[in-house]
Amino acid sequence: MQAWRAPRAFDGDRFLPGGATVLVEGDRIVGVESADFTAPSDCPVTSYDGTLMPGLVDAHVHLVSDGSLGALERVGALDEEAIDAAIVQSLAAQVAAGVTTVRDLGDRGYRTLVARDRGAAGSPRIVASGPPVTTPGGHCHFLGAVAETEDELRSAVIERHERGADVVKVMASGGFLTPGTDMVGVQYAVTALRAVVDTAHDRGLPVLAHAHSLAAIEAALAAGVDGIEHFTGVTEDGAQLSDDLLARTAAAGVVVDPTMGNDMSLVATMPPPPPQVQAIMDRLGMDMLTFFAQRSADVGRMHRHGVRVVPGVDAGAMPLKAHGNAWLAVLDLVAAGWTLEEALAAGTAGAAEACGLRTVTGRLQRDLAADLLVVDGDLHAAPRSLGSPLAVMVRGDTAVSR
Ligand SMILES: [Zn+2]
Repeated sequence: MQAWRAPRAFDGDRFLPGGATVLVEGDRIVGVESADFTAPSDCPVTSYDGTLMPGLVDAHVHLVSDGSLGALERVGALDEEAIDAAIVQSLAAQVAAGVTTVRDLGDRGYRTLVARDRGAAGSPRIVASGPPVTTPGGHCHFLGAVAETEDELRSAVIERHERGADVVKVMASGGFLTPGTDMVGVQYAVTALRAVVDTAHDRGLPVLAHAHSLAAIEAALAAGVDGIEHFTGVTEDGAQLSDDLLARTAAAGVVVDPTMGNDMSLVATMPPPPPQVQAIMDRLGMDMLTFFAQRSADVGRMHRHGVRVVPGVDAGAMPLKAHGNAWLAVLDLVAAGWTLEEALAAGTAGAAEACGLRTVTGRLQRDLAADLLVVDGDLHAAPRSLGSPLAVMVRGDTAVSR
């Protein structure tokens, strides 16, 4: 047995006054006690002057990509060895930033499932979709999972189930990063998406839809998906997320991941966007900063409507979205109107639940995995200390200790 102790603590739902001592046996939490708890004499206690909490969950990552410009698009040309090396590097960056679970929503050749099944001491837990399902020439087609007809879509879902995927990811609209894809319309009709959802649900798999356009959000909701990634609401007249849409999304219990957590300090260093992205921005009358400001306002409205939101990053998609930015995505919720406690809960227990891991991780709770994070200082006084891990434990293995 071992124990970590800190004078401040957050348990996945709320702050624990006076801090906590968390007792760990093997890979499990076996007790959550007060900070002045007297541990058994054979139990070494490591004390940190910080805030002890569950490790963060990034609910949207691409481990196969290092996040450099164009890296995700280049994955299609990499061999397995290079992809596996990228996955190892991405996981190392995640855990160094306090992330103990990632949900990978787009790899190539099912390599993230291989990494998941192989496991590694001190490396984040992986929940994985395998390659995202898309149309011929559609968003992220270079990841190699194209399906167009309903029969092809059903086959794609069955393949993912047989491969052991944890979740199915389908591209319901085009994306900023794939030239020529439809950012305003849909990639699939509702009936086609419903074939995906029904086939997946029959096999116990949840379905997440990538949807930037308002039309794709509506199609995904009508098809009964479990979660929607991005949820931008792009139309010919700009981004539009009506109160009615948000109310229906909340009522359906669909989990929205607005994929924030952008490192804004890098915006000035970014090259001009590719022409297809610039064309969309011009049509919407937006630059990158106004786009992000509107996102923040919309995420605040999601909160007021009671939409379940998880702070995934889309880590690896571009330089602003580095592996390890989960803490920034949590603070973006605070900026959008969440209390600090609500935002931390969304990034720990809430995201773990959305990943199907409610009984596995996400809280300082007896019998859950010993996935722990200690950040420097007092989060109430200095929220950005969330980005300064002093120590990280994954399944009982110490991954970081400063
Ligand atoms: Zn993504």
